[in-house]
Amino acid sequence: MTKKVTLLIPVYNEAKTLSELYKRLLELLERNEKYEWEMLFVNDGSGDHTLDIIRELRQTDTRVNYVNLSRNFGKEIAMLAGFDYCTGDCCVVMDADLQDPPELIDQMLKYWEEGYDDIYARRRTRGEESWMRRHLSLAFYSLLQKMSRIDILPNVGDFRLLDRRCVLTLRRMRECERYTKGLFTWIGYNKKGIEFDRGNRKDGRSSWNLFKLLNLAIEGITSASTFPLRMATITGIVFAVGSFIYALFFLAKTIIYGEQVAGFPTLIIVILFLGGIQMLSLGIIGEYIGRIFKETKGRPTYVASDYNEKKLGYEYPE
Ligand code: UDP
Ligand code: MG
Repeated sequence: MTKKVTLLIPVYNEAKTLSELYKRLLELLERNEKYEWEMLFVNDGSGDHTLDIIRELRQTDTRVNYVNLSRNFGKEIAMLAGFDYCTGDCCVVMDADLQDPPELIDQMLKYWEEGYDDIYARRRTRGEESWMRRHLSLAFYSLLQKMSRIDILPNVGDFRLLDRRCVLTLRRMRECERYTKGLFTWIGYNKKGIEFDRGNRKDGRSSWNLFKLLNLAIEGITSASTFPLRMATITGIVFAVGSFIYALFFLAKTIIYGEQVAGFPTLIIVILFLGGIQMLSLGIIGEYIGRIFKETKGRPTYVASDYNEKKLGYEYPE
């Protein structure tokens, strides 16, 4: 029986890169004719002609399937939609902008045949990106590593091959605030890393900006660990103990030397400093409450409006 491989490609305003991507994918498919292939595009509410182009591709190539989301949900959620509609025995998650070279998939398939479940690509170089972004993202990974017991590898993106059992497991994880990289690590199974050089974006521009990255970082931390809450507690304890000792010292001083009113600046500084820490702690707690709020609404994680020619209402694939 031939095995089926799904290429899961979330696309958001990628009209410019799609034809080039399709060409490169066809080469990959020709090299690996022993597999049955599916190219599953998840259109994440693109505002350009992306969907038209995918529909055109589908007219001549039945291996092309697509899910059309009802609006832009972000890549993390688009990937979940892809997992839901993926029909293959394994699933390769890749970006549409050709920063993830399709040539690497041959190697991934080899390891899959050897029995690995999750073959991820580690970037040796990161392609063109700003100094700021590179350093911020590395700092974020080392912070996350220290905070959570789950290893999240730096320089590993979403580009990977997942066995069907990983896909089935990931389908069960339906939180709205998703940090998929953490989920990949969480599910475990047999992992294998391979290295590659990340290219530059072929066309268009990255839809990420510093603010989005910061949000993703906070999401990553708050979804993978409750360490920030612990930190707030520890800070609280340190200040409480410190102030108690200081109070004793002050009491003794007043008894021995009498009272003198001084140290007004110190007072202001201490009040402002503690006020700052309190606000920060409240913010941290709020961060988690916000997540609880969103998850307890129990909404579907995304809304799909079409699967190929079929219009969808509120329903899930079986
Ligand atoms: N993407 C998406 N929804 C979004 C933003 C991006 O589906 O809201 C897709 C995009 O089309 C691409 C992939 O996610 O296939 C990676 O996006 P991008 O290249 O902008 O991210 P970067 O490579 O800079 O991390
Ligand atoms: Mg990219």
